Amino acid sequence: MALHENLIGGAWVGGDPVANINPSNTDEVVGEYARGTEKDARDAVAAAKAAFPAWSRSGLMERHAILSKAADEIMARKEELGRLLAREEGKTLPEGIAEAGRAGQIFEFFAGEALRLTGETVASVRPGVGVEMTREPVGVVGLITPWNFPIAIPAWKIAPALCHGNTVVLKPAELTPGCAWALVDILKRAGLPDGVLNLVMGKGSVVGQAMLDDPDVNAISFTGSVATGKRVAAACVEHMRKVQLEMGGKNPMVVLDDADLDIAVETSVNGAFFSTGQRCTASSRLIVTQGIHDRFVDAVVARLKALSVDNALKEGTHIGPVVDQSQLEQDERYIAIGRDEDGANLAFGGERLNRETPGFYLQPALLTEATNAMRTSREEIFGPVASVIRVKDYEEALATANDTPFGLSAGICTTSLKHATHFKRNSEAGMVMVNLPTAGVDFHVPFGGRKGSSYGPREQGRYAQEFYTTVKTAYTLA
Ligand code: ADP
Repeated sequence: MALHENLIGGAWVGGDPVANINPSNTDEVVGEYARGTEKDARDAVAAAKAAFPAWSRSGLMERHAILSKAADEIMARKEELGRLLAREEGKTLPEGIAEAGRAGQIFEFFAGEALRLTGETVASVRPGVGVEMTREPVGVVGLITPWNFPIAIPAWKIAPALCHGNTVVLKPAELTPGCAWALVDILKRAGLPDGVLNLVMGKGSVVGQAMLDDPDVNAISFTGSVATGKRVAAACVEHMRKVQLEMGGKNPMVVLDDADLDIAVETSVNGAFFSTGQRCTASSRLIVTQGIHDRFVDAVVARLKALSVDNALKEGTHIGPVVDQSQLEQDERYIAIGRDEDGANLAFGGERLNRETPGFYLQPALLTEATNAMRTSREEIFGPVASVIRVKDYEEALATANDTPFGLSAGICTTSLKHATHFKRNSEAGMVMVNLPTAGVDFHVPFGGRKGSSYGPREQGRYAQEFYTTVKTAYTLA
């Protein structure tokens, strides 16, 4: 099996092979990927630093052409890339293809943005003086990404970084190097000069840590767990560098008595369980007012019974496997805590499933009679596990929704304009959904949260420039 190597300064560089295992079939090796070292990380940063002066002054048409060429290839190959994604991460094939398509759309968007870079000119308070505000690239940007969106997240960090003239070192998650490798290969062949984009696969504690410790990294964009995010933030403060963090969520979906029951069930089941619940925007707290509560729970259980949990590549599969053994054990631990220690009722699922191929299959779990104080309502589980919390009325629902250390996404199902409007204004989340799942967002508008979910400027859309550029104010007397 050919080894997929790291890309450093335009050259493919080998390393110890690591097998990328398919969570839908643990007998299957998706590919062999080189494990990067601390030295690889340092070399990659040095290569990105050396490439920065030329790339930061590169013509806009060059950036536009490379980003659009990459977009075209991703779009043309989205079925194949989606299949690779489904094999290494365990998302269903349609979900994998959709995510690959989204990566293509992100590159299309930033190919356009490269031709729309703007600044501002204003008059000075001093007569005869003009003031210009322009945006310049930040420098070498380190990107550290998780396994749950293995192509979309690298895409939504790489595309704006390159568009704005930065050079990049990407460290993808250990579990899903395949999509990151494919994306970097596409960008290299699209014509990126050597050293502008570097890839170092490997362990967070080795490669990621070496990036945090390298004084030549000017900014870090990280998506992952809260614990690692705090470590990244501390290292960035130490080096006085820019930092952007996207971390966990404990996203509420509020269902009011006046909700359309079908919409409430679909948005809740989709938000909580699709993509195996492994989304930071997943709805893990279903906060339901008492008038609709029992009908809602019955309908969700009926819907869950009809879902097929199976091999991600199999036609008709709704929910693929959990990503690996340790995540599966974490999910099971939380289900046991909810049911046995905290006294919630396990209304459905939670058991391991055997399928034709050996994989990490877990029946989606629905805990009912939960309270917002339970650990399962406060800590991110990151699996197909959701809790139903019964509340009296809208006011209690809103207070419960906001009573969390996180603030990424929040949803409400209601036919009341008054409550929908009030919720949009008063939710303490960065993204609010009305009659839509908490997960599943557009690629051209800002993404990000508040409180413990996010730190630093928003990602995606035009707002991405806040992080990937630094502002210069120039004064001229003419
Ligand atoms: P998850 O639970 O989703 O794997 P992590 O925060 O552990 O979340 O991982 C997210 C990313 O951070 C991965 O690419 C991982 O390798 C990386 N990472 C883990 N530990 C460190 C570290 N000490 N320094 C830098 N990056 C790290």
